[in-house]
Amino acid sequence: MGHDMADEWFETRAIAPGVWVLRDPIGRVAPEYDVAVVNLYLVEGTERAALIDSGMGIGDVAAACRRLTDKPLINLCTHSHWDHVGGTYQFADRRIHAAEAERLRETYDVEQVGPIRAAPATGLLAEGDVIDLGGRSLAVWHTPGHSPGHVSLLDAATESLFCADTCYAGTLWFQTSDADLDQWRRSLERIAADARVRTLYGGHEQPEHEPALARRVLAALDEALAGRSRWVEFPADPGTRKHLFGEFSILLRADET
Ligand SMILES: [Zn+2]
Ligand SMILES: [Zn+2]
Repeated sequence: MGHDMADEWFETRAIAPGVWVLRDPIGRVAPEYDVAVVNLYLVEGTERAALIDSGMGIGDVAAACRRLTDKPLINLCTHSHWDHVGGTYQFADRRIHAAEAERLRETYDVEQVGPIRAAPATGLLAEGDVIDLGGRSLAVWHTPGHSPGHVSLLDAATESLFCADTCYAGTLWFQTSDADLDQWRRSLERIAADARVRTLYGGHEQPEHEPALARRVLAALDEALAGRSRWVEFPADPGTRKHLFGEFSILLRADET
């Protein structure tokens, strides 16, 4: 990928002091997935910068980061799904939770995108870890539910939680074999209850949300599981129902509702 590709591929903007979102347009290549954008976040300290997730690997994400910071980069993967780790091979320091580390070891093909390149983890992320960026740090929360090793990252400096695919206002994917609804419920409750979190930054669609969104998603999940929601079929994944709640939808297997 050339230098110019990054310019046109990622929509980049500053969202807080030393924090940028890089928006990877997944809807252009896989519209059937019903998500428009993957959000990557660059968080800069005085010594290092962390890139949270790396996108699909189509645009040159390392070049896009270098345009924003000259600090050494750490790639923190919230989970192993291909739309979040496709650019991870570009980074020498790349970390993920142990439960999903194995999945970064091999190259595989995604029909709409091409190869997702192997990028074996060089470090692991676990609950309670603190990643010091110099003058600010990111604390690791293990927030399983969307996938077994999903992590969120708390930036105390901006009272923000980068919660990726645990919570956003869009089509929430919870029908896959990776998903565990009881774990998801516990993770949402934790996010909604922690007073240190003033802003949620999600893994898809509009980046910023108030933590109350986690509460609304939780209530909606209960409605869906109780059979009280309106739903439509989700053709991209047969056997899946898309439960409609206005500001977001939840994908669940038909045999769960
Ligand atoms: Zn995911
Ligand atoms: Zn995702």
